[in-house]
Amino acid sequence: MPKSGQTVEQSGIYKCTKCGNEVTCVKGEPFPPCRKCSNSEYKLIRATK
Ligand SMILES: [Zn+2]
Repeated sequence: MPKSGQTVEQSGIYKCTKCGNEVTCVKGEPFPPCRKCSNSEYKLIRATK
């Protein structure tokens, strides 16, 4: 699973594995830490172009 600091390889909606907060991540940018719980692990929910 992607973690904060890693570069996003697939743009899409990601969900925090801890609190369920959803964030939009863009390819080429680093994953941010979760704003709600500071968790750093994400799961891809829906890929976008
Ligand atoms: Zn979270």
